[in-house]
Amino acid sequence: MIAKIIDGKLIAKKVKEEIKAEVAELIDDNNDTPHLVAIIVGEDAASQTYVASKEKAARNVGITSSVYRYPAETTEEELLNTIDFINNDDEVNGLIVQLPLPDHINVNKVIEHISPDKDVDGFHPINVGKMAIGQPSFISATPAGVMELLKRYKVETEGKHCVVLGRSNIVGSPLSILMSKKTNPGNATVTICHSKTHDLPSITKQADILICAIGSPEFVTADMIKKDAVVIDVGIHRVPADTEKGYKIVGDVNFDEVSRKASFITPVPGGVGPMTIAMLLKNTLLSFKKEFNQ
Ligand code: NAP
Repeated sequence: MIAKIIDGKLIAKKVKEEIKAEVAELIDDNNDTPHLVAIIVGEDAASQTYVASKEKAARNVGITSSVYRYPAETTEEELLNTIDFINNDDEVNGLIVQLPLPDHINVNKVIEHISPDKDVDGFHPINVGKMAIGQPSFISATPAGVMELLKRYKVETEGKHCVVLGRSNIVGSPLSILMSKKTNPGNATVTICHSKTHDLPSITKQADILICAIGSPEFVTADMIKKDAVVIDVGIHRVPADTEKGYKIVGDVNFDEVSRKASFITPVPGGVGPMTIAMLLKNTLLSFKKEFNQ
């Protein structure tokens, strides 16, 4: 039997439609709309593309979007001053600094400088800490997207064994926390694996829900999963292929094999990826509504 596809493209579209409807109401009621600001430092091509798609997605739902573009040689002090300025601008609800930053800038210092009330990326230690103790907070977009997919597809998580592959601060670690919380989705028994884990397949085979965020193309194969497991693939990789473009996009999971054994699976592309921008926009709307003010 082939697994049911968790269609992230479709759910992201629905989430964006919901945001658009709510923003339209805000405009009708108060003639006011959320405002998202992105700062980008340097010329990294992938970062330019990401910021352009965030800007376009924001505009499509009626969220005002501004981008501050700075050259790579911008000093840390200049960047921190800009963040101060935006933190103090009451017209701005969300502020994101596109990563990676040039090496001479301390990323942690920059993230900690963003007002937690405008930290719609959910990277500030105050938001991460609140998430960890189960208080309302901005949850970073990719983990939030995974949770939203599980919720909308009504995947049963309570009492299930969830194995998370990867412990990064932006994906694996927050997902392991969220899945263990007294929430729905959540209430799972969670195991987190990383590069020092011994005999990984023996653990992944125990997973009712397997979340893969290790950054290794098609790493997870059918023999590593339990029959009827729910498989969530966060990975995104461009690998050489005999296609017109000369490459194809794959995830951390070998989709062809694993989809024949799993009960649910997210495809790549079209699974977790499209959810990330949708959840960033949702956080911006929540910020406008002052849901998580300190
Ligand atoms: P990362 O920071 O490189 O973290 C990878 C994690 O996987 C680390 O914890 C690492 O362990 C672990 N790992 C690596 N090789 C392993 C192995 N052979 N066995 C067990 N664990 C292993 O990556 P990330 O930022 O979390 O991203 C993961 C993937 O998701 C990437 O493909 C990335 O492109 C993708 N991603 C997608 C989105 C989206 O919007 N869909 C967003 C973010 C990331 P150690 O901690 O021991 O090094």
